[in-house]
Amino acid sequence: SAASEALDRLIATVPGFPEPGILFRDLTPVLADPDALRAVASELAASAHGPYDAIAGVEARGFALAAAAAAVSGTGLVLIRKAGKLPRAVYRREYALEYGTAALELHRDELPRGSRVLLVDDVLATGGTLEAALGLLADAGLQVAGVSVALELAALGGRARLARDDVRAIAVV
Ligand code: 5GP
Repeated sequence: SAASEALDRLIATVPGFPEPGILFRDLTPVLADPDALRAVASELAASAHGPYDAIAGVEARGFALAAAAAAVSGTGLVLIRKAGKLPRAVYRREYALEYGTAALELHRDELPRGSRVLLVDDVLATGGTLEAALGLLADAGLQVAGVSVALELAALGGRARLARDDVRAIAVV
């Protein structure tokens, strides 16, 4: 697809960021390219199974893609944020990092229970982030209309960890 070709061409691979041994995939050139951004946003927006009411994006790089996809699809945008950033009552899910834990939060009253939501992030790596995000959508009584990322790092096993049949990746490395 146009989107997968744009990702293959524009994603920068940065060895040693944010720490030695990590091969970081930098999607900022994709956001900066108008045709690539539109193609990726359109493919994300079209990746759900069935209709949806909103797209949920994961902080921080997922926000950019989720917002663009929501604008394309004519739906709302819901923010799943790092702990302590959302001002009103939240659901909270902790997840393990390599060292220690982190937490994601979602406003309790952002959408009516039963609303259908497409979950979007930039990169699927180990799957811990999207697993926590799915937990928050469940806590809020929301129906998941799909889980979509721009790039999947297949060797890290995130797809198996999520154990769903509706995980879509536009590009895989
Ligand atoms: P996971 O929880 O699946 O291990 O990691 C996914 C989260 O970490 C995503 O929110 C993603 O933004 C970030 N992440 C992990 N590896 C990379 C990477 O190589 N590039 C980018 N841009 N984000 C990454």
